[in-house]
Amino acid sequence: MKSVKPYLLASAALAAASPHPALLPQEILQPSLSTPAQDYVLVPNALDDIINDSQFLSFHRDLVQISSISGHEQEVGSFVAEFLQARNFTVVKQPVPAKEGGDQDRFNIYAYPSSVETPEVLLTSHIDTVPPFIPYSVERVESETAKSVNPNNDPSTIRISGRGSVDAKASVAAQVFAALDILERQPDASLGLLFVVDEEVGGAGMKVFSDSSLNPAPSSFKAVIFGEPTNLDLVSGHKGMLGFELVAKGHAAHSGYPWLGRSAISAILPALSRVDQLGDIPAEEGGLPSSSKYGRTTVNIGRVEGGVAANVVPSSARANVAVRLAAGTPDEARDIVHRAVRDATDSNGDVHADFDARSEGYPPQDLDTDVAGFRISTVNYGTDVPNLKIHERADGRSVRRYLYGPGSIHVAHGDNEGLTIADLEEALQGYRKLIEAAMGR
Ligand SMILES: [Zn+2]
Repeated sequence: MKSVKPYLLASAALAAASPHPALLPQEILQPSLSTPAQDYVLVPNALDDIINDSQFLSFHRDLVQISSISGHEQEVGSFVAEFLQARNFTVVKQPVPAKEGGDQDRFNIYAYPSSVETPEVLLTSHIDTVPPFIPYSVERVESETAKSVNPNNDPSTIRISGRGSVDAKASVAAQVFAALDILERQPDASLGLLFVVDEEVGGAGMKVFSDSSLNPAPSSFKAVIFGEPTNLDLVSGHKGMLGFELVAKGHAAHSGYPWLGRSAISAILPALSRVDQLGDIPAEEGGLPSSSKYGRTTVNIGRVEGGVAANVVPSSARANVAVRLAAGTPDEARDIVHRAVRDATDSNGDVHADFDARSEGYPPQDLDTDVAGFRISTVNYGTDVPNLKIHERADGRSVRRYLYGPGSIHVAHGDNEGLTIADLEEALQGYRKLIEAAMGR
């Protein structure tokens, strides 16, 4: 990637001039012009220069520096829209309803080269992040993969951190620059860019796009390339999802006379215990199904509440449950959960699973991997993939869906979110490869 090369030359020259190869983070020693050659002064901003010298890395930095926690995406949206407009893209700002307490004017960005009417290859990712905002920073790190004689010149030794630096502003930046790279050589390349809001909290942005005329039926797309942190693997699919509440009702009484009441917590316990094990119980014994591709279905009881005080028989209890489906449909899973609750409570009617409170539910999402040169894997997290309804094409050919991007999901929502320059550079190449394969179809 050409925009990163200058720093390699510059820092190689610095390293050659320095007899002290062991450098501290953020410090590069450089001969001072005004003093004898063996004297050195500190250049604290050498890492900043590396970012500044690359349009790609600067764009990624600018994205990360703008806080864009879900609901508050207006500023980063305007920044991306202006950036693309200045590079000869037609930019559509697609309004998305505000969240309570959020920006009034937030929008998806849909952009395509002004020479193109309906893009055939769509690159998409999201511009919102999880909280809290964490400032952008760059540091020198140890690298096992550093190959050069002087590892300080290797992009795998420079780590960029900050909220969204991985999820998913690394994908956004790499998709934009992969598209620019291809358009430089092929100005009429039929590419589109879609950057949505709200992915981390409910997918309102992608749902608005999906239901709009920008997602026409029959589909004009040959392929949709989703950008999320996949550690540069091409993902062959991710698990499905089903959320629900387990709800129990009882009757309050003095705890000294529990027979005068009915404990909602006593009622919910056996149901909770059974639901908790549904991923481990074989399907033929009433458990949730597994698959060779995704492994076991997993259940997380993430929140439980009930009762008011230790000396009161509790009249209500509830639990929030998230199921990651390895096989089957949400409807099949709902039946399995209903049956498990009935069995565990002897059908006493005090406990039931409520699927209306949380509407999300989709089956495992199988994705395409028919482009050579990638590691292939599956992931366990959810994405916007199921929120984009892909219509059939008029010619009957299937629309390919790919999921790929830089950085690890293991740091994505953590306070250590970050990735190396090498990851970003490789993602740029990866997206180019996917775009070219899709355009060549
Ligand atoms: Zn994400």
